[in-house]
Amino acid sequence: MSALMPTYKRLPVAFTRGEGSWLFDEQGRAYLDGIAGIAVCLLGHSHPRVAAAIAEQAQTLMHTSNLYRIPLQEQLAERLCQLSGLDAVFFCNSGAEANEAAIKLARRYAHDERGIDEPQIVVADGAFHGRTLGALAATGNPSAQHGFAPLPGGFVRTPYADIESLRALDDERICAVLLEPIQGEGGVRIPPEGYLAAVRELCDARGWLLLLDEIQTGIGRTGRMFAYEHAEIRPDVVTIAKALGNGMPIGACLTTAAVAPSFGPGSHGTTFGGNPLAARAALAVLDVLEQEGWVANAAEAGTALRECLREQLDGHPAVREIRGQGLMIGIELDTALTGDLSSLPQRGLDHGLLINVTAGSVVRLLPPLTIRDQEWMHLADGVATLIAEQTAAAASQSSDPSLAHSSASSSAKPRA
Ligand SMILES: *Cc1c(COP(=O)(O)O)cnc(C)c1O
Repeated sequence: MSALMPTYKRLPVAFTRGEGSWLFDEQGRAYLDGIAGIAVCLLGHSHPRVAAAIAEQAQTLMHTSNLYRIPLQEQLAERLCQLSGLDAVFFCNSGAEANEAAIKLARRYAHDERGIDEPQIVVADGAFHGRTLGALAATGNPSAQHGFAPLPGGFVRTPYADIESLRALDDERICAVLLEPIQGEGGVRIPPEGYLAAVRELCDARGWLLLLDEIQTGIGRTGRMFAYEHAEIRPDVVTIAKALGNGMPIGACLTTAAVAPSFGPGSHGTTFGGNPLAARAALAVLDVLEQEGWVANAAEAGTALRECLREQLDGHPAVREIRGQGLMIGIELDTALTGDLSSLPQRGLDHGLLINVTAGSVVRLLPPLTIRDQEWMHLADGVATLIAEQTAAAASQSSDPSLAHSSASSSAKPRA
């Protein structure tokens, strides 16, 4: 343990095996995975077709170099272009790198095509775009940025999901807007209906590029392959990563034929990005996703899971809102009634359940798209129980009798 830098406060469990929606620890105990490696293991753990593709590719050819043609990378790029309506792809190894590529691409395009010397990119409060310096500067979370000054400049921050504040921007140097279609780390924040379409329209009117960070929402999680499809728009640049390899590290930055030439030979690069092993894994993920209809299942299971959570938690005073799209779900709690939620994931583990808390007050669920009916029902039951227990524990520690009363009368309803 002590040989690792202390960047994570890890829960005291180590998994040795995974199968579908389940993980197994060193003692063989099973846990239902409600977080899927933070939106990574889209098809569940150890998916046999993905595992077989990786094993076969590892025995054939893992890595050459982007100095040479890589047919699997070309195939994957074509597939992603068909799926996204975009025209060209740059492959990398993570979400942060995909966003770095998007930021550099937008700047280069602004320099080359619009003659802007110091291009500015508009970003949102509460955004999360990654931990590398450029992506961190774009991130709207002061605690993630703390202690890392000086961060690169070139970003203009505005409130999230507020079209008027975007319209009010008046800076000739602005070249692009970078947004998450739904903020993930920021608390599963969903913009109002029509917001993305209005942003698209504004970007067109001002000559700004629209860059969407779909690293968490992308590849089917929200019930469409890309979350922007819900808004019936097409962005100029899209970044994806997390789910693309189902656990094999791979990221991508997709763009249009108009913007792609800004990345000429030598302008950007990576040693590993899109190597044969990663590309083969991602091709297998897309095959399974499409052939087995899991994107539609994300929409159906997501709606059913939210309904089930609402049924169970209806009227619970500590539950402010249950929201989500597809299998990206947030349950916003009132921490005045639940107390600090940092121990909730540990309580989840005690119940054999992996859940996550983000933005301090939101229980976030990102289960595999392959989750079965009995499994999401089990997840909903477990989460409702956890919230009831947490609220009761907070009330019993509180000296305020009104809190004790409200939570005592509000434990989760058992499901019929
Ligand atoms: C996870 C995430 C990132 C960063 O991805 P890494 O692979 O951790 O670098 C960026 N943007 C969003 C929306 C994310 O959810």
